[in-house]
Amino acid sequence: MELRKIILIQPGREGRIFGKAPASPYTMMRLASLVPDDIEVEIWDENWENLDGKFKDLGKHDLVGITAKTLAIEAAQRYTRLAHEAGVEVVAVGGSHVTLMPEDVKPWADIIVTGEAYYTWPRIIEDFQNDTLKDHYDDTEWADLKGVAPLSDRVIKMVDERRRYWTPLLEITRGCPRNCTFCTAIRVSGQKMRFRPVDEVVEEIERRKIDRFFLTDDNFGLAFAIDPEYTEKLFLALEKTPLRGWTTQAEMMVHKYPELLKLAKRAHMDKLFIGFESVNPDNRRELGGKSKGLTKQYQEAITNVQQQGLSVVGLFVFGFDADTPQVMWDTWDFAQKSGLDSMSATVLTPYPGTPFRDDLIKENRLIPDIGWRYYDTAHLTYYPKSMTVEEFEREYDRVCKAIYHPYRMVQRGFRSLMRHPWRRVPAKAFGSFSTDYGYRRTFAWRSRSIPALR
Ligand code: SF4
Repeated sequence: MELRKIILIQPGREGRIFGKAPASPYTMMRLASLVPDDIEVEIWDENWENLDGKFKDLGKHDLVGITAKTLAIEAAQRYTRLAHEAGVEVVAVGGSHVTLMPEDVKPWADIIVTGEAYYTWPRIIEDFQNDTLKDHYDDTEWADLKGVAPLSDRVIKMVDERRRYWTPLLEITRGCPRNCTFCTAIRVSGQKMRFRPVDEVVEEIERRKIDRFFLTDDNFGLAFAIDPEYTEKLFLALEKTPLRGWTTQAEMMVHKYPELLKLAKRAHMDKLFIGFESVNPDNRRELGGKSKGLTKQYQEAITNVQQQGLSVVGLFVFGFDADTPQVMWDTWDFAQKSGLDSMSATVLTPYPGTPFRDDLIKENRLIPDIGWRYYDTAHLTYYPKSMTVEEFEREYDRVCKAIYHPYRMVQRGFRSLMRHPWRRVPAKAFGSFSTDYGYRRTFAWRSRSIPALR
């Protein structure tokens, strides 16, 4: 069939913040780059604009692709319906939710795309043109990242990241060999950590002309241990770029690599988001060997990283089986004493395909009739073991009010800002306060949506 145009849709929830959308639609940018030059392609990002009025010009010669995490899958279903109503015959849906739970999407999507789509997407385009489409394309080989879906100049120009987005996203590694019982990363990206060639990373940064980014990598910090030579080479190469700052997720063992942390600072890294997850040592089984719930070790890690001039964002999760309301307040006490630069306290979420969810199903502990849009780590979607739903909600709201109180946010923001030399302060002001601000917005969304949920 003749293929007129390809539309790639990224559902969103945040919308614009002070005129720009939060983060660039990176996966869609890479998929759009795989579209042959003679086929028109557009990326529609719900965070940038309202999409509802855009479908009317589409028809049967157009191919629509949608990516969705679990919390956005209902939006993906709605956009599929709008596309069908406009006359589109083929809507392909991919992303983490489909990979984790294909049977949930199969009834309403024309094509489901499980695993990484970088190899299957070009086949879908070809099959559309040859009338040989299948209803399921799967790529769970976790192939080498070398040369995979480089961004095209056409897409870079079209997305115009500097004008439209606060934070460009970038990928350097994929996969995580840990096995935390609540995490989807190993099921979506595989258990082997894979690395993009350093020269490809640098080339992409230069061609996109971005001066900062957030890494989408699940656990970049593990590269310190798995391939220190690669990590050193990467940092030395990034040092020479005109970057002004970047941030990434890591686990706390990075503090044992002071020389690499020094190089990271020279490579313009600003802060590490470290998943401590819990201050409750009874939860260590669920933490897959990366944390042990021991605050003394956490403190040592925070201090060691900060001594290298990097900020630390502490990530904590509430709701493990051994957690009581007291754990939330112990976390708050620890955060206060430890000198963290930002912090996030989220609700444990039973994503499809995880051992944690399997256990809850066996024990009949999922709260019934909760839509996927609440699987956003801000809402409780199951019955906790060591407290009631009401206790959890009440204490979680109280502790979040303490964490995201403007005074505390300003205090942490200035702490982070002061890690930079005076001449860099104006350039670092946004990044020093934006992390907590983002988490506060999520908490505000929770406060608005809870009445509809309960
Ligand atoms: S270490 Fe992080 S990315 Fe890896 S499985 Fe655990 S939570 Fe997921």
